Amino acid sequence: MTEKPPTTTPSNEELGRRLQDARRDLLRTLALTDGELSTLESHQAGPWAEDAATATVGVILSRLEGQQKHELDEIADALARLAGGAYGRCQACGVAISPARLWAMPTARHCVECQRKLEATNREGRANE
Ligand SMILES: [Zn+2]
Repeated sequence: MTEKPPTTTPSNEELGRRLQDARRDLLRTLALTDGELSTLESHQAGPWAEDAATATVGVILSRLEGQQKHELDEIADALARLAGGAYGRCQACGVAISPARLWAMPTARHCVECQRKLEATNREGRANE
């Protein structure tokens, strides 16, 4: 799976598709049976957590562990921001996040500069432990 970044600025629709793809890939790794997989795949077509497959999906999601759960939350959050119009802006300083960054990391919440500052802060925090 080596999808090339688009030569033009990716539209929100394309980024939304990328988020959906990322979520599907994640969910696919969790399905234990073909039945579960098809439930998950058909679930992708509908709104998140609002159809008959929700119970099954809930069971599958309960298998998620730390990092995967976090990733799925990030994806759900990014999709919500996309729907709400807040997507693509840095949550710290409000500048537009570069399209290349969004394409590489569709769940990005911060611009490169703020991300760097946050990571520096995290590193300092760990060093002081
Ligand atoms: Zn920023």
